[in-house]
Order: sequence, then C-alpha cells, then structure tokens
Amino acid sequence: MALVIGGVSGHYFAALLVAALLYIAWLHRNLGALLAFLRNTQDHTVPEPPGVLEDIALEIDYLRERHKKRKKKLASYLQQFQQATRALPDATVVLSEDGAVRWANEAAARHLGVRWPEDLGQRITNLIRLPKVRDFITEHVHASAIEIPSPTDANRFLSVLLAPYGKNQFLFVARDITDLHRANQIRSDFVANVSHELRTPITVFRGYLETLVDQREQAPVAWQPALDQLNAHANRMQTLVEELLLLSRLEQEDHVDDPEPVLVSEILGEVLKMARDISANREHFFSLEVDPQLEILGSRFELTSAISNLVFNAVNYTSARGVIQLRWYQNDEGAHLEVQDNGIGIDNEDLERITERFYRVDSSRSRGQGGTGLGLAIVKHVLVRHGATLTIKSELGEGSTFRCDFPLTAIAPQAVLALSQPA
Ligand code: ADP
Repeated sequence: MALVIGGVSGHYFAALLVAALLYIAWLHRNLGALLAFLRNTQDHTVPEPPGVLEDIALEIDYLRERHKKRKKKLASYLQQFQQATRALPDATVVLSEDGAVRWANEAAARHLGVRWPEDLGQRITNLIRLPKVRDFITEHVHASAIEIPSPTDANRFLSVLLAPYGKNQFLFVARDITDLHRANQIRSDFVANVSHELRTPITVFRGYLETLVDQREQAPVAWQPALDQLNAHANRMQTLVEELLLLSRLEQEDHVDDPEPVLVSEILGEVLKMARDISANREHFFSLEVDPQLEILGSRFELTSAISNLVFNAVNYTSARGVIQLRWYQNDEGAHLEVQDNGIGIDNEDLERITERFYRVDSSRSRGQGGTGLGLAIVKHVLVRHGATLTIKSELGEGSTFRCDFPLTAIAPQAVLALSQPA
C-alpha cells in the first residue's frame, strides 16, 4: 500500500516512513492492550485483533489458569496438613535454622506455651527458658530425645525431639510422657526403698558373720565351709544393695550437681593398684598411657566408680597373663578414656544389651567373680551425668575396648587452654 502511494505521489521514502510510524503506533496500542490483559487477572477477554498477539494472550491465559489451579491445590494440601498437625496430640513447632518459631500447632500452646501466630519469629530458647533446651538447640547434635518438665505445668513431663527437614528447618516435637515418667519414678523409688530397707539388716548380719569368721578356728570343723560361704554371700548382698542404691541415686538427675575438677590420672593410679590385687596370681600385664594433667569437671566418686567397674571387668574377663591397656588423653573432640583387654570378648548380639541392668553374657561366670550385673549400667549412668558416651568394640575370643568420650565442655578449663597453646 505504501509502495502504491509512493509510486503515485513519487515520494517513496516519505510514504514508507509514514507507514512504518503507523505500524509502530498500532503495535504499541496492541502491546498496551496485551499488557493490560496480563495485569488484570480477573478479565479473560482476549484483546483484539486476532493474530500472533492474540495467540500469545491465549497461551498466557491458559498458563495462568493452570498455575492458579495448582496454587489452589497446594493451598488445600497445606491446609489439610496444618489441620492434621494441629490435631496431633504432640506439640509440634517448625523452627528456622536460628531457632525462630515459624509455625506451631495447638498442642504446642498447651504443652510448651508456644502460641502461633503470636510467637511467630520468637526464638524458642526465649519462650522455653531451660538450659537443657538451650544446649539441645545450640549443640545441633540431636541423636536422642531429652526429657524436660512442661513449661506450662511443672507436674507434667515431655520428651523432646529435634528433627531436621527441608532447607535448614527443624521440627521441634514434644510428647507428653508424664505416665511413663511416673511409672519409672515408682519403679526407681521402689528399688531404692527396698535396697534402703535391706541395707541395715545386711550390715548387722555381716558384722556378726565377720566376728564368727575371725574366730573360725573355735567353730566346729564341719561349720567352717558354711561360714565362708555365708560370708561370701553376705558380701555379695551388700555390694548388690550398695550398687542398687547408687544406681537409683544416679538416675535421679542427668547431670552432676556442683561439678569439681577431677584428676583422672590419680583415679587410674588408685584403680590400677586394686586391679593388681584382683588379678593376684593371674599376673595380668597392665599398661598405662595417661595425660597426668587432664582434668574432668564432675564427681570424683562417680568417676572412680565407673572407671573401677571398667578396669575390674577387664581383669575378670581376661585370662591369666592377659594384657590390659588404659589410656587417658585429649584431642580436639574432647577427652577419652580407653580400657582395652585381650580377654574373652563379647558377641555382637550381646553388645547391644550389655549396659542393661542385670544383663550378663554368662551369669554363673559373672556371679562366680562377685559380679552383680550392674557395673556397666552404673558406668552408663555416670557417663550420661558427665555428658559423655560409651562406645564398646569387641570381638569374641579377641578382646574388648570400652571407650568413654567426654565432650570438650567437660574438660576443666586449664586443660582446654593447654590444648590451644602451641607445644
Ligand atoms: P558384671 O557384674 O556381671 O560384670 P557388668 O554390668 O559389669 O556386670 O557387665 C555385664 C556383662 O558384660 C558381664 O557379665 C560380662 O558378660 C560382660 N562384660 C563386661 N565387661 C567385659 C569385658 N571386658 N570382656 C568381656 N565381657 C565383658
């Protein structure tokens, strides 16, 4: 058309320029209409005139509708999920990486006092002010659940778990375990009461027996083996009662009140002396590699009890002239105690249960050696109270290594300083 007009008028260039300007104006108007159509999500009237722009508008409209449907579906899934989680009896709080509340269900308000949406963005450690929860959140090691009193009702107890999910988010889940806690408390009180009641009669009984044993030559010969047996059993009963009492005391709290710096090398020296006496004519070979300065914050009495249980077990379950190695050292992960023997070893299936109270691989052998089956349970509780863990490696017929790993925080301050200074 522009060419025809240009041919007739003889002004080709001017005609083409006018036509181009008109086309640009037309395009601009239609693109404007397309933009208005895109901006108005309610209006589905495709802008005129038909052509490429109309096709683009139709395609965009189709994609927009599909996106809307998907969004609706997702919103309904989310709503269903939130309704289901809201109805869960367990308190559930979604936390961001820095421990801020993102969402919480109704049970969270009941059990933890965390309200949603009021507490949105608040740090969980500001809402639940318990040192145990603060350590649990900041340590970022959440292998097992912790037990805390409910912040909303001191008579109820909660088991708290932290599960990482998605991108740097955490689910803070708390379950009401008051009934279980009560049952455990009743069991523990019962054992403690019975042990306590038995303690006095056994002490009296042992006192008289000791006098009789001291004067055994005055007793008829036929009675003498009986006296020895009575004495051995009375001693065993006393050890059993003392260990049961110790265990129920250890169970009361999962931390040591008033920890003090404990020089473990000193304990190892004392325990080694007693271990040599127990070994007697079985002539075990003992080796000791210890850091003489390394101190742990905790209870000397409890640590002595745990270490002696491990070392005496090594002696009892290692045949004559066996080798028992003790190591006490620190590295950048913490402090470590190793008790290694080349004794009878422990089968894999027993390993899992070995720290349960009264669990023994060979009951008669254990009893014969004065064992109560409570030693490793005591070790485990003592370690828990010192923030430490027990790892056991063993092979039947080859020997065993019991390793206690104490965290850096359990090391007495001067020892941590020494580690950070160049040698
Ligand atoms: P016990 O009083 O019977 O020694 P423990 O709780 O100390 O009770 O140990 C539980 C069981 O673990 C023992 O009966 C024994 O079977 C096994 N055990 C412990 N230490 C060792 C060891 N160093 N080597 C082999 N077996 C061991």
